Amino acid sequence: MPIRPLPDLLIDQIAAGEVVERPASVVKELVENAVDAGARRIDVELEEGGIRLIRVRDDGCGIAAEELPLAVSRHATSKIASMDDLEAVATLGFRGEALPSIAAVSRFALTSRAAGAEHGARLEIDGGRAQPVVPHPHPFGTTIEVRELFYNVPARRRFLKAERTELGHIEDWLKSLALARPDVELRVAHNGRPTRHYRAAQDSAARLARAAEALGGEFGAACLAVSQTSSDDLRLSGWIGLPRASRSSPDQQYLFVNGRAVRDRTIGHAVRQAYADVLYHGRHPAYVLFLELDPRRVDVNVHPAKHEVRFRDGRRLHDFVYRTLQEALGAARAGGEGGHVP
Ligand code: ADP
Ligand code: MG
Repeated sequence: MPIRPLPDLLIDQIAAGEVVERPASVVKELVENAVDAGARRIDVELEEGGIRLIRVRDDGCGIAAEELPLAVSRHATSKIASMDDLEAVATLGFRGEALPSIAAVSRFALTSRAAGAEHGARLEIDGGRAQPVVPHPHPFGTTIEVRELFYNVPARRRFLKAERTELGHIEDWLKSLALARPDVELRVAHNGRPTRHYRAAQDSAARLARAAEALGGEFGAACLAVSQTSSDDLRLSGWIGLPRASRSSPDQQYLFVNGRAVRDRTIGHAVRQAYADVLYHGRHPAYVLFLELDPRRVDVNVHPAKHEVRFRDGRRLHDFVYRTLQEALGAARAGGEGGHVP
């Protein structure tokens, strides 16, 4: 075959392969956009595990009618403008890839009303074909609807699992967001029935209650609060489970770095080491930890889905996390709370 440039739609569909694995990835991208838009309340409506419909509505800053086509254009973003911005990125998104990718593999509608705008406007895209922007009533904020995910990508569609499984992935991810942003009210409905309502938590008691609700079980009554700042301004806060709240699998481990849920080996190792004296082999601690640091000390642009980050000074961070947790666990043990649990 001769060399040819790829058509735009195909480019977006290829990019969608990296960003949109399943309905949960769509929910993640849309809810993260709502958070970046400063939403105080986010409603998520799902049908058939999100395969038939995902609708995310927020009360954030909205998008001006004339910018709607840009919002769904590849590599168009309001979040960064330069390499300096990228080095210090504080928003969850910044790649400008999610909306065009999602719109390329679904029946997509974006309705929004920017703060101060007199009317709302709507843009529909069917498998990559954009319709003209039309006026449409909408309160301040944004609603995005994604119907029939992968309807035009049969290979992807075949990999979707049963409704229950896809819903489970969505709920897992929403739980992590509910933990990351206790200040945001989050409501979820599936097939017309409310399934979750995380109310906004203002003080630390309400935050712990929300964490306990998300983790379930006895976590709320069997954890230690952690709050430590290092001399070089690393901040670690949250809750770590007492040995008696340990698990047979690492299913209740949440780490947020500057508000972003990540999996990180360095910190995972530091936590394991801190628990080494108080947990039997094969037991896993439960924790919800928030690490905050200068965004210049962490690279979030490692992978399109941004589950991983790279720390500039991993060793230093490891020691800080290890020492903070070890001290908290040691103090609890001295107070009679610790000890091995089989
Ligand atoms: P990114 O989040 O990386 O910037 P997206 O494709 O997810 O890329 O979104 C593109 C742009 O559309 C965003 O930069 C933002 O300006 C706008 N946008 C998307 N969702 C919302 C929303 N819910 N509220 C306000 N603006 C939004
Ligand atoms: Mg985004």
